Amino acid sequence: MTDPGRTTCIDEAAILVATQPGAAARLRARHRSRGDGCCTGCGPTLVPWPCVHITIADRADHLKPRPTDHPATPRKRQPPTPRVGP
Ligand SMILES: [Zn+2]
Repeated sequence: MTDPGRTTCIDEAAILVATQPGAAARLRARHRSRGDGCCTGCGPTLVPWPCVHITIADRADHLKPRPTDHPATPRKRQPPTPRVGP
């Protein structure tokens, strides 16, 4: 059972996609069903459609972009802690 408070790598990818305007649409344009049940964008190995990219795009569409969730958001560096004692 998955911890409901824990994010998966798919969740993290969806957050990243949600912060990029048009990214979910670009994933959908590239990863379409070939008609034989496989993805047009995943290859050369045949991957069943919907592939993980579509899963990420679907989740991204349900997320509201929150810039603070973006892993590339620069974090404030903390000044080094001075050493005290021996
Ligand atoms: Zn695909």
